[in-house]
Amino acid sequence: MYQLIIFGPPGAGKGTQAQLISEKLNLFHLSTGEVLRKAVSEKTELGLKAKEIIKKGKLVPDDIMNEIVKDALINNRFENGFILDGFPRTVEQAKALSDIFEELGFKDIKVLHLNTDEDELVKRLLLRGRHDDTEQTIRHRFKVYTDSTEPVLEYYKNNDDDILSIKGVGEIEEINEIVLSML
Ligand code: AMP
Repeated sequence: MYQLIIFGPPGAGKGTQAQLISEKLNLFHLSTGEVLRKAVSEKTELGLKAKEIIKKGKLVPDDIMNEIVKDALINNRFENGFILDGFPRTVEQAKALSDIFEELGFKDIKVLHLNTDEDELVKRLLLRGRHDDTEQTIRHRFKVYTDSTEPVLEYYKNNDDDILSIKGVGEIEEINEIVLSML
């Protein structure tokens, strides 16, 4: 059973690759960004809380995110496994996830680390044109990535988990083939 986490800076193509991988390997794709955007558009309690945070490129509090992921992993059936996209984004979230994995008996996790240089990332984000892709928000999301999210990689290194590093430059399908060949 695949137990995957896709990790990387804003604009590295996490969502696109996670989608392709989940289709090809028949995995449960959990994008925390998508969960939040859906909540915002449906104006649920979560959505109302998350709306301004997303708009500013800040992080939704860890306890809220941990609960969302825990519920999703407990309540969904996935025979072939899952891919987490956009979570964990802080070391606190990574620790909470380790506890959830232990509780559920998931031991063979693999972290797919997608990376690209920053100029390319900014260019892609500006082209994407999502609501939270204004220049100011993008800049803030990079700062959040460097300050809060990059340390998550150290956490997994220290944990001795498998980290597969992939340069996210080039054609989407080509990158996808490289990723799949590494799994
Ligand atoms: P994404 O679609 O992964 O780029 O996420 C879009 C936005 O949702 C982020 O900029 C955050 O504001 C919020 N978000 C998504 N995942 C998380 C998470 N794991 N922790 C905190 N905030 C998150």
